[in-house]
Amino acid sequence: MTAPDARRPGARLALERVGHRYGATRVVEDVDLDIAPGEFVSLLGPSGCGKSTLLRILAGLLRQSEGMVRIDGEDVAGLPPADRGVGIVFQNYALFPHMTVAANVAYGLQARGRGDRSSIREAVGRMLETVRMSAYAGRYPRELSGGQQQRVALARTLAVNPRILLLDEPLGALDKNLRLDMQIEIRRLQRELDITTIMVTHDQEEALSMSDRVAVLNAGRLEQFDAPAAIYDRPATPFVATFVGTANLLPARLARAGDGYAAQAEAGGALALPQASPCSRPGPVLVAVRPEQWELADAQADAGATLAATVQLVMPLGPSLVADLALAGGASVKLSLPRAGAPALSHGMPVRLRLRPGAAPAVFIA
Ligand code: ADP
Repeated sequence: MTAPDARRPGARLALERVGHRYGATRVVEDVDLDIAPGEFVSLLGPSGCGKSTLLRILAGLLRQSEGMVRIDGEDVAGLPPADRGVGIVFQNYALFPHMTVAANVAYGLQARGRGDRSSIREAVGRMLETVRMSAYAGRYPRELSGGQQQRVALARTLAVNPRILLLDEPLGALDKNLRLDMQIEIRRLQRELDITTIMVTHDQEEALSMSDRVAVLNAGRLEQFDAPAAIYDRPATPFVATFVGTANLLPARLARAGDGYAAQAEAGGALALPQASPCSRPGPVLVAVRPEQWELADAQADAGATLAATVQLVMPLGPSLVADLALAGGASVKLSLPRAGAPALSHGMPVRLRLRPGAAPAVFIA
């Protein structure tokens, strides 16, 4: 019999060329991921991109059509969910409504025969303390807020000491304010327990704020697997650039210019780029400019390194001034400036845009 408090380190998790079909429809294709012990990884992508399918494959609830899943190097094909050392928390908590908080948390331990009554009671007490719910042990789920229910669901899953924690949109049902608290709470727990964690989410902010690395999926394919800052600063594809944060995709023609590059915009005007990455080949490209990478140039600025635009809409958003501008050809671009010291912009005003010093927008083959 395993003692309920035997802490085990997080497992290494690897997906090798994993693919999945439902009938004839391919929904996951050729996904490779190598996740380190104790790492927090988010699977991020729009609805229908295959995130939940991958999570179910990891849990052993679904058998992949192609490829291999390894836990600590071992191919787990055919290993049932209970034997994988994997715990899942779902968005809807799935607590037993007729059981108290303590009974919900004890359930998994009892079902697995982990320890005698007093050691289970002790383990439940410790787990409730960990999720800061000791005061609610005797309550029923309906007497708890959404955030509290989510904590209990976490405690119940973590009580059986899984080596891998799978979170399926765990914060989807919570209010925005509560979500931030729970994000911090989950991250704290995850670090404390050093448990390898995979979270499915379609919320980019959540993925960027909580994860060591983010796997961005689009239509069943892995577009990029990288640290949050790298995903934002150096997106690998136009999809990542626009799905994670905001990016203005400008069709342009790239050429070398001095130490850097010049991008002649299709809409007229040009941008001076210090570097061109991931694509530096001269020819047709898409330049992905973040709203905060622009600055306003004065009317006398060199027209060879600016774009002419007209202000359409100005929005004061807390610390930022966000404006929607129309380029000469009619395409719209977004601009974000720190509101402190921003010039007064108004509808119909002509402006000139250029890149901030040091800004290096991603460049893609068109
Ligand atoms: P996500 O979690 O990213 O929203 P899913 O993994 O749930 O995506 O679904 C990926 C694709 O597979 C979607 O097009 C979905 O409609 C389809 N799909 C999911 N589950 C099934 C199923 N059991 N049978 C057939 N198609 C499914």
